[in-house]
Amino acid sequence: MQLKLNGIWLMLIMLTGVFSLLFLWFTLFPGRVNPEIGQYFSARQISQGRDYVQGMRLVFIGGFITQTVFLLWLVFGGRAVALSRWIQQFTGGGLVSYVLFFLVLWLLLRLINLPFDLFGSYYWQHHWRFSTQPLGNWWLDYFKSAGLEVVLSAVGVALLFWIMGRWSNAWWLVGAIFLSLWLVVQSYLWPVLVSPLFNRFEPTKDPAVLAMVDELSQKAQLPVDRVLVMDASQRTTKANAYFTGLGGTRRIVLYDNLLADYPADEVRAVVAHEMAHWRQGHIAKGLGMGVLGNFIIWGLLFMTLKTTIPTISAIPRYGQYPPYTWAVIVLFLTLISFTANPLMNHFSRNMEFEADRVAVRLTGDAPAAERLQVRLAAKNLSDVAPPAFIEWFSYSHPPAPARIRAIQQAAE
Ligand SMILES: [Zn+2]
Repeated sequence: MQLKLNGIWLMLIMLTGVFSLLFLWFTLFPGRVNPEIGQYFSARQISQGRDYVQGMRLVFIGGFITQTVFLLWLVFGGRAVALSRWIQQFTGGGLVSYVLFFLVLWLLLRLINLPFDLFGSYYWQHHWRFSTQPLGNWWLDYFKSAGLEVVLSAVGVALLFWIMGRWSNAWWLVGAIFLSLWLVVQSYLWPVLVSPLFNRFEPTKDPAVLAMVDELSQKAQLPVDRVLVMDASQRTTKANAYFTGLGGTRRIVLYDNLLADYPADEVRAVVAHEMAHWRQGHIAKGLGMGVLGNFIIWGLLFMTLKTTIPTISAIPRYGQYPPYTWAVIVLFLTLISFTANPLMNHFSRNMEFEADRVAVRLTGDAPAAERLQVRLAAKNLSDVAPPAFIEWFSYSHPPAPARIRAIQQAAE
């Protein structure tokens, strides 16, 4: 039996093909660097950043293309259907056949991605002396996150097929509501339940940092009561900070190596930037967009499945769709999230610009914010002169020179 390639599939596959080829092309041939960037970064910094990032981009696009080609072959080459039938015979159908199909596919995709994961997050990080993690600890992380993922996803898959069987025409709406609720719950609980499985978080004790947080939170008129330090140095030498959580779990997290390696006025610029995300409600805005996108994607998925898969009614409780539907859904989500990258990153970059502007007004210290951008980009080996397509497609944060310009404009 062959699954039908309808218009939605053709469009998604074509866009994915064009975007991946452009990404690969500009990764291999990034072009010349705008000479203006030389005022902030040395030629050596620029070329080192490019070499490091080129490896990361090749891993990303190589892994993506391999996985996508495999899924296309599985779904449209008839293999998913054959596997699904075999599992149904083997298990006698029912919910267990859906979960087993999910497990087999999950394992295959994990195995396909393993060499790319190992290269990108272990070998390449050691090669550039970013990683401080022994291989044993890397595997421990890998198995912990894989375990978490497989348990949560298996529950999600069982729930999904139950919903699909229960509401044969409105499952996409019910599914979108469920997933939206999950997104909210996850944003709330992740920082307190999951992040501590991987890192230790402790409230800042340094009186100078506490005083600075206090001063900024008064200026921002924001009761920032949780600034936590994370033991990031057990994995990496890269410095960073982030804002996460929802309602009562909101917090600013600073990497311990940021506090150790960066001057006080630049740490202040980081805290102000994260506080600006907090004040502008960026987590809630991001969630709002996620929920909206979620409904659109479920609606499209509903239409796609309806016209791709011949429905069956042989298994009454778990509904109209056979287990291989899961492979079709994974392929669909892979293609749609890849092609939606530019849109999501566009929103994300705008929020970063906004946070930078608000932060400079809070601190009144544009020079420190500029020095911070230069130091972060140089130490973390960012590509400060990305090809325009790559920036448009994959940059969640604007490159350092653009951020410096925005900071200067905000300070004028
Ligand atoms: Zn930010």
